[in-house]
Amino acid sequence: MADLRELYQEVILEHSKAPRNFRELAAANRKAEGYNPLCGDHFTVYLDVEEDGRIRDIAFQGSGCAISKASASMMTQSVKGKTREEAEKIFDRFHKLVTGQGNGNSSELGKLSVFSGVSEFPVRVKCATLAWHTLRAALEGTLETASTE
Ligand code: ZN
Repeated sequence: MADLRELYQEVILEHSKAPRNFRELAAANRKAEGYNPLCGDHFTVYLDVEEDGRIRDIAFQGSGCAISKASASMMTQSVKGKTREEAEKIFDRFHKLVTGQGNGNSSELGKLSVFSGVSEFPVRVKCATLAWHTLRAALEGTLETASTE
Protein backbone atom coordinates (compact mmCIF):
# COMPACT_ATOMS: atom_id res chain seq x y z
CA MET A 1 0.00 0.00 0.00
CA ALA A 2 1.50 3.26 -1.09
CA ASP A 3 1.75 6.04 1.42
CA LEU A 4 -0.64 8.91 0.90
CA ARG A 5 2.33 11.25 0.71
CA GLU A 6 3.48 9.39 -2.38
CA LEU A 7 0.13 10.03 -4.01
CA TYR A 8 0.36 13.73 -3.33
CA GLN A 9 3.63 14.06 -5.09
CA GLU A 10 5.26 17.41 -5.36
CA VAL A 11 4.22 17.96 -8.95
CA ILE A 12 0.57 17.30 -8.08
CA LEU A 13 0.68 19.71 -5.18
CA GLU A 14 2.39 22.31 -7.30
CA HIS A 15 -0.24 22.08 -10.06
CA SER A 16 -3.10 22.19 -7.55
CA LYS A 17 -1.71 25.36 -6.00
CA ALA A 18 -0.93 27.06 -9.30
CA PRO A 19 -3.11 25.41 -11.96
CA ARG A 20 -2.20 26.07 -15.60
CA ASN A 21 -4.80 27.48 -18.03
CA PHE A 22 -7.05 28.25 -15.08
CA ARG A 23 -9.34 30.88 -16.58
CA GLU A 24 -12.42 31.38 -18.67
CA LEU A 25 -11.71 31.09 -22.38
CA ALA A 26 -13.35 33.97 -24.23
CA ALA A 27 -12.81 32.33 -27.64
CA ALA A 28 -14.32 29.01 -26.54
CA ASN A 29 -16.65 27.30 -29.03
CA ARG A 30 -17.26 24.27 -26.81
CA LYS A 31 -17.64 23.91 -23.10
CA ALA A 32 -18.80 21.33 -20.61
CA GLU A 33 -19.30 21.09 -16.91
CA GLY A 34 -18.14 18.16 -14.82
CA TYR A 35 -19.14 17.18 -11.31
CA ASN A 36 -17.89 14.48 -9.00
CA PRO A 37 -20.49 14.20 -6.21
CA LEU A 38 -18.35 11.81 -4.17
CA CYS A 39 -15.76 14.48 -3.52
CA GLY A 40 -17.45 17.74 -4.55
CA ASP A 41 -15.07 18.44 -7.43
CA HIS A 42 -16.74 20.74 -9.93
CA PHE A 43 -15.10 22.09 -13.08
CA THR A 44 -15.96 23.74 -16.36
CA VAL A 45 -13.73 22.96 -19.33
CA TYR A 46 -13.56 25.46 -22.20
CA LEU A 47 -12.32 24.52 -25.66
CA ASP A 48 -11.46 26.39 -28.80
CA VAL A 49 -11.65 23.62 -31.39
CA GLU A 50 -10.61 24.10 -35.01
CA GLU A 51 -12.78 22.80 -37.83
CA ASP A 52 -10.53 19.77 -38.30
CA GLY A 53 -10.99 18.85 -34.64
CA ARG A 54 -7.69 20.12 -33.35
CA ILE A 55 -7.74 21.71 -29.89
CA ARG A 56 -6.39 25.20 -30.52
CA ASP A 57 -6.82 26.31 -26.92
CA ILE A 58 -8.16 24.90 -23.67
CA ALA A 59 -8.85 26.32 -20.23
CA PHE A 60 -10.77 25.38 -17.12
CA GLN A 61 -12.34 26.89 -14.04
CA GLY A 62 -13.88 25.53 -10.89
CA SER A 63 -12.92 24.01 -7.60
CA GLY A 64 -12.01 20.64 -6.22
CA CYS A 65 -9.47 18.62 -4.31
CA ALA A 66 -5.75 18.69 -5.09
CA ILE A 67 -5.92 15.57 -7.27
CA SER A 68 -8.81 16.79 -9.41
CA LYS A 69 -7.37 20.26 -9.87
CA ALA A 70 -3.85 19.07 -10.66
CA SER A 71 -5.27 16.52 -13.09
CA ALA A 72 -7.28 19.21 -14.89
CA SER A 73 -4.26 21.50 -15.01
CA MET A 74 -1.97 18.83 -16.46
CA MET A 75 -4.67 17.67 -18.85
CA THR A 76 -4.91 21.13 -20.42
CA GLN A 77 -1.16 21.07 -21.00
CA SER A 78 -1.14 17.59 -22.50
CA VAL A 79 -4.02 17.98 -24.98
CA LYS A 80 -3.46 21.54 -26.21
CA GLY A 81 -2.65 21.41 -29.91
CA LYS A 82 -3.80 17.78 -30.17
CA THR A 83 -6.60 16.40 -32.30
CA ARG A 84 -9.70 14.91 -30.73
CA GLU A 85 -8.45 11.41 -31.58
CA GLU A 86 -5.07 12.08 -29.97
CA ALA A 87 -6.73 13.46 -26.85
CA GLU A 88 -8.96 10.36 -26.63
CA LYS A 89 -5.88 8.13 -26.85
CA ILE A 90 -4.15 10.00 -24.04
CA PHE A 91 -7.30 9.72 -21.91
CA ASP A 92 -7.47 6.01 -22.60
CA ARG A 93 -3.88 5.48 -21.44
CA PHE A 94 -4.38 7.78 -18.47
CA HIS A 95 -7.53 5.94 -17.44
CA LYS A 96 -5.70 2.61 -17.57
CA LEU A 97 -2.88 4.09 -15.49
CA VAL A 98 -5.08 5.40 -12.66
CA THR A 99 -7.22 2.24 -12.56
CA GLY A 100 -4.16 0.03 -12.38
CA GLN A 101 -4.69 -1.57 -15.80
CA GLY A 102 -1.52 -0.11 -17.26
CA ASN A 103 1.12 -2.41 -18.68
CA GLY A 104 3.78 -0.72 -16.59
CA ASN A 105 4.90 1.39 -19.51
CA SER A 106 3.68 4.84 -18.55
CA SER A 107 6.56 6.68 -20.22
CA GLU A 108 4.35 7.74 -23.13
CA LEU A 109 2.16 9.65 -20.69
CA GLY A 110 5.06 11.87 -19.69
CA LYS A 111 4.31 13.99 -16.64
CA LEU A 112 0.83 12.49 -16.34
CA SER A 113 2.48 9.32 -15.01
CA VAL A 114 2.73 11.00 -11.58
CA PHE A 115 -0.91 9.97 -11.16
CA SER A 116 -0.02 6.25 -11.13
CA GLY A 117 -0.33 6.28 -7.30
CA VAL A 118 -4.05 7.00 -7.69
CA SER A 119 -4.62 3.33 -8.60
CA GLU A 120 -3.99 2.50 -4.91
CA PHE A 121 -6.95 4.70 -3.94
CA PRO A 122 -10.03 3.70 -6.00
CA VAL A 123 -12.16 6.55 -4.63
CA ARG A 124 -9.60 9.00 -6.03
CA VAL A 125 -9.90 7.65 -9.57
CA LYS A 126 -13.01 9.78 -10.06
CA CYS A 127 -11.13 12.87 -8.91
CA ALA A 128 -8.29 12.16 -11.34
CA THR A 129 -10.52 11.46 -14.33
CA LEU A 130 -13.20 14.13 -13.84
CA ALA A 131 -11.53 16.73 -16.04
CA TRP A 132 -10.99 14.12 -18.75
CA HIS A 133 -14.64 13.05 -18.74
CA THR A 134 -15.53 16.72 -18.96
CA LEU A 135 -13.12 17.23 -21.85
CA ARG A 136 -14.75 14.33 -23.68
CA ALA A 137 -18.21 15.83 -23.12
CA ALA A 138 -16.99 19.19 -24.44
CA LEU A 139 -15.47 17.55 -27.53
CA GLU A 140 -18.73 15.76 -28.19
CA GLY A 141 -20.41 19.11 -28.02
CA THR A 142 -22.95 18.05 -25.48
CA LEU A 143 -24.19 20.62 -23.04
CA GLU A 144 -25.10 18.19 -20.34
CA THR A 145 -23.18 17.98 -17.10
CA ALA A 146 -20.57 15.24 -17.22
CA SER A 147 -20.58 13.03 -14.19
CA THR A 148 -18.18 10.40 -12.99
CA GLU A 149 -21.13 8.23 -12.02
ZN1 ZN B 1 -11.67 15.04 -5.51
